[in-house]
Amino acid sequence: MIEFENVFKEYGNKVIALSNINLKIPKGDFVFLVGPSGAGKSTMIKLLIREEQVTRGRILLNDTDITKIRKTRIPKLRRDVSVVFQDYRLLDKKTVFENIAYALEIQGESKSTIKRSVAYALDLVNLSHKEACYPHELSGGEKQRVSIARAIVNRAPVLVCDEPTGNLDQETAWEIMKALTKINEEGTTIIMATHAVEIVNKIQRHVVSLSNGQIVSNVERGGYYEDI
Ligand code: ADP
Repeated sequence: MIEFENVFKEYGNKVIALSNINLKIPKGDFVFLVGPSGAGKSTMIKLLIREEQVTRGRILLNDTDITKIRKTRIPKLRRDVSVVFQDYRLLDKKTVFENIAYALEIQGESKSTIKRSVAYALDLVNLSHKEACYPHELSGGEKQRVSIARAIVNRAPVLVCDEPTGNLDQETAWEIMKALTKINEEGTTIIMATHAVEIVNKIQRHVVSLSNGQIVSNVERGGYYEDI
């Protein structure tokens, strides 16, 4: 369970990006954060991975207030809350397998664990046949699926995605959604910031709409413009 409690975020330039956000995200949920550009979606995601810090309020991950954890504990937080960005952020000189294995290597996992975990992650995104390829040999949709595999290889209980389909055409975006739906069905909580109205409307899951840093609608199962 994730809980935002009276969360405010003001950036250094006095821009109030979030104003009194209260939101509960149950374990296993699939929640879309929607709203116009500048509404505060990315800021919510950055707070969840502690790329930014709240100005006021609490963010609970199970029973831990992640706004209070020390800087040295942030890498541990990122093993619980992993992230997928719009622009993939793959390492060009590493193969698909190596990109996904990298974090596990740094953690000192054994070769056999790494092999098993990478195979599991690649299977979930349907890319087992591409493990020896380099990023430049992949399509945009495939690159994004590799970045999703990299994010889930640790089996983090929470996956946050910032506009994961933002650079992709409609058809490819659905490949990504298929992968994310499968990951959610395996038990991972997914929080996805998006502009993709068609996707949100079709999937009919938890939709939180933001406008000017505030939640203007919160529907358990719905589409983009419901209740606004
Ligand atoms: P969204 O993801 O919905 O487009 P953001 O969370 O990126 O919205 O931005 C919310 C508000 O905060 C906007 O007014 C934006 O200009 C501002 N903002 C975002 N990041 C920064 C930053 N690093 N410094 C100053 N202002 C920022």
